[in-house]
Amino acid sequence: MEKFVCDVCGWEYDPEYGAPEVGIAPGTPWEEVPDDFECPFCRAEKIQFTQDVDYYEIYKRG
Ligand SMILES: [Zn+2]
Repeated sequence: MEKFVCDVCGWEYDPEYGAPEVGIAPGTPWEEVPDDFECPFCRAEKIQFTQDVDYYEIYKRG
């Protein structure tokens, strides 16, 4: 599953771990994170997160 990074503080959302500190259970994909989600670190809104591009994955795919 894709990870997403907060543009403001660099905190990373990893669906594997979720964000239990703000009520997001482990295994929750980003699409299912509620729109009122806030970064647990800096309280940025969900819209301020961007997908963490894994360049190594792209490289492997060609
Ligand atoms: Zn943040």
